[in-house]
Amino acid sequence: MCPTFLRAYQRFDLNEVRGALLIVGEVTGNCASCGEMGLVPASVAVCPNCNARFRFIANRRIESNPGERFQYAQRIEQERPDLTLIDLNDYQKMDSRAKARDLFQ
Ligand SMILES: [Zn+2]
Repeated sequence: MCPTFLRAYQRFDLNEVRGALLIVGEVTGNCASCGEMGLVPASVAVCPNCNARFRFIANRRIESNPGERFQYAQRIEQERPDLTLIDLNDYQKMDSRAKARDLFQ
């Protein structure tokens, strides 16, 4: 057996993801739901500001350093098995599309 990481696509409820997403920058993370900053990605389970329980994680660094993607996926699997790593670019695209749709309804 040769376990490896491959990106796969799965259907998610955008509102559900938005309410449970931790977006990690260079060092700290922020809550996608309320924007709370300075969260510690290695240990934060719940947003101290809005009480969102984190189940998803995305990383800004991967966008500019795509070569680190699988290494990061491995780290998340080991350090935060409670979180599902999602692609930040995908999330942001769908999120702004949904917001634009809401605006014109
Ligand atoms: Zn929050």
